[in-house]
Amino acid sequence: MLTDIEIARSAKMRKIVSIANELDIPEEYYNLHGKYIAKVSHQYLNELDFKKDGKLIMVTAITPTPAGEGKTTTSIGLSMAINKLQKNSIVTLREPSLGPVMGIKGGAAGGGYAQVLPMEDINLHFTGDIHAVTTAHNLISAIVDTYIKYDKLNIDSTRVLWPRAMDMNDRSLRDIVVGLGGKNNGYPREDSFVITTASEIMAILCLSKDLEDLKERLSRIVVARNKEGDPITVKDLEISGALAVLLKDAINPNLVQTIENTPAFVHGGPFANIAHGTNAITSTKLALKLSDYVVTESGFGSDLGAEKFYDFVCPTFGLHPSATVLVATIRALKYHGGQSKSALSIPDLDSLKKGLPNLQVHIENLKKFNLPVIVAINKFETDSQEEIKLVLDFVKDLGVECSVNESYEKGSEGAVDLAEKVIKSCEKDSELKTIYNFEDELEIKIDKLVKNIYRAGRVEYTSEAIQSMKFLKKYGYDKLPIIMAKTQYSISDDPHKLGFPKDYTFTIRDFELSAGAGFIVGLAGDMLRMPGLSKVPNAVNIDIDKNGNIIGLY
Ligand code: ADP
Ligand code: MG
Repeated sequence: MLTDIEIARSAKMRKIVSIANELDIPEEYYNLHGKYIAKVSHQYLNELDFKKDGKLIMVTAITPTPAGEGKTTTSIGLSMAINKLQKNSIVTLREPSLGPVMGIKGGAAGGGYAQVLPMEDINLHFTGDIHAVTTAHNLISAIVDTYIKYDKLNIDSTRVLWPRAMDMNDRSLRDIVVGLGGKNNGYPREDSFVITTASEIMAILCLSKDLEDLKERLSRIVVARNKEGDPITVKDLEISGALAVLLKDAINPNLVQTIENTPAFVHGGPFANIAHGTNAITSTKLALKLSDYVVTESGFGSDLGAEKFYDFVCPTFGLHPSATVLVATIRALKYHGGQSKSALSIPDLDSLKKGLPNLQVHIENLKKFNLPVIVAINKFETDSQEEIKLVLDFVKDLGVECSVNESYEKGSEGAVDLAEKVIKSCEKDSELKTIYNFEDELEIKIDKLVKNIYRAGRVEYTSEAIQSMKFLKKYGYDKLPIIMAKTQYSISDDPHKLGFPKDYTFTIRDFELSAGAGFIVGLAGDMLRMPGLSKVPNAVNIDIDKNGNIIGLY
C-alpha cells in the first residue's frame, strides 16, 4: 500500500468554495486560506437558529497502546461512508500540534484512504490557530512578570500558576528560571513551559460559543495568587479584550475536505487528560446545523475523552448525542493480553482472549451513558479471520453491535456496514445519562467517576489534594465540573495496570483550577505537559525539494 502522503497527494481535491457552496454557506461568512481551506465565521451560527440539529455520533476507543487504535481514521471513514449512503455527514476533528509531527511518526489527519486534506497544511501551521493560542498564552505570562517587576496587584512571585507555552516538544524547558540578569530584566523566579495544546487558552478556545463567551472565559482564568493567597485573574490583569483580539480568527471553524471530497471541520486541539479533549465547540455546533450526521472524535480511550464529552461538554452546551462508536484493534487487544509490541502482527488467539476484558470494560462503561454503542474493529492487514471472529462473537455476547471497518484500506467502501449500523442506532432516540450531575459535591462527583468508570474500590486524597480542595471551596470554585487527569494507558490511575483493573485504590494527588475553561482538574498521577523528542525524531526524515514537495511527513 502507498504511504499516507502518497495517497494524499494522488487524491483529487475539490475547491473549498464548491464544498462551502454545497453546504449553503453564504460567501460573506467565510474567508479562504488558499484554494482548499476556508475559515467559516462562527457568527454564521446565528443565522441557523431555526434549523434542527443533526445527529451527533461520538468516536472513542479502548485503552490506547503503542500499537495505535485509529480513532481519527475511523471517524473520517465513517463520515465518508454515511455520505456514500446518500445521507449528508460532516466529520469534526482536532487539529494537529507541531510537537508530535516533528517528534513521532503519525499525524492527526487520519491514515490510508481515510484522511482529511490538504494533509500537509493541516499538519503544518494550518490556519495559525495554534500560533494564536501560543501568543495569547504568552501575553499573559509577559504581563504577569511585568506586574511583578512593577509591584502591581501584590502578586506572590512564588505562586504564579501560569506557565509559558510553545508548540514544540522540548523537555529542557519543563523547569526553568526566568528574570535572570539583574534589575532591568525583572524578578528571578522558577517557571516552566507547556506545549500549547496543554494551555488553558486552548481549552477555552474550544469551549467558547462566541466572542462574548470567549472574553468572559478568558477573564476568569486564575493566573497567580497574591501575597494574601487570594486568586488573581485575567480580569485583574485587564487584558481579556487583548487576548480575545488575538484569538478572533482562531475561534472560527476550519473547513477542509476528506479524501472523498466530503466536508470536514478540523479545529482546536485540547488534551483529553488535563482538558476535555474534543475539537472546538463552534465547529461541532456548526456541523450539527449543516448536516444530518456529525461524527466527532474524542481523545484517548473512553475513560478520558468520551467520559469528558458526555459528562462535561454535552451538558454544558445542551448537546444530545445519538450513538457511540468504540474503536478497537486486534493488535491493541493482544497487547492488553500481554503480547509484546514486536509480536503484534503474528496471529495469537491466546493473548487476544486475554486482552478482551479491556474491550469489555469500555463497552460496559459506555453503556452507562445510555446511548447505543457500536464497536468498530479497525482492521489491520495482519489480522487473521479467526482473530476477527473471536472479537465479533465476544461483542455479540455482550449485546452490542459490531462491525469490521476497512476504511484505512478501502475508504468509504470499507465502512459501509459500520455506517449502516450507526445510522440505525441513531434512530433509537436515546437520551444521554451522565455519570455525575453538575450539582453534586466535588467528592461525590469524583466518587461516582472513580467507581463507575475507573473501576476502583476507593478514593484516597493526598494532603496536597486536601489543601487544594480547601482553596477551591473557600473561593467557591468547588462547584465546577471535574476533569480527571490520569494516565491514558489504563482505565486506572496506574499506566501499568493493563486490561480490566478493579478494586484498587484511586489516588487524587492534587487539584488544579481551570476557571476560565470552567472545570477543576483532578490530578491522578504525573501529567506531562511538555513532551520531549525521541533519540531519532521524525524531524530528521522531513525534507522539501526545490519544487516545494514535502517528504517524510508520514
Ligand atoms: P488515533 O486517532 O486513535 O490516535 P489514528 O487514526 O490517528 O489514531 O491512527 C494512528 C496511526 O495508525 C496513523 O498513522 C494511521 O495511519 C495508522 N492506522 C490507523 N488505522 C490503520 C489500519 N487499519 N492499518 C494500518 N495503519 C492504520
Ligand atoms: Mg486521533
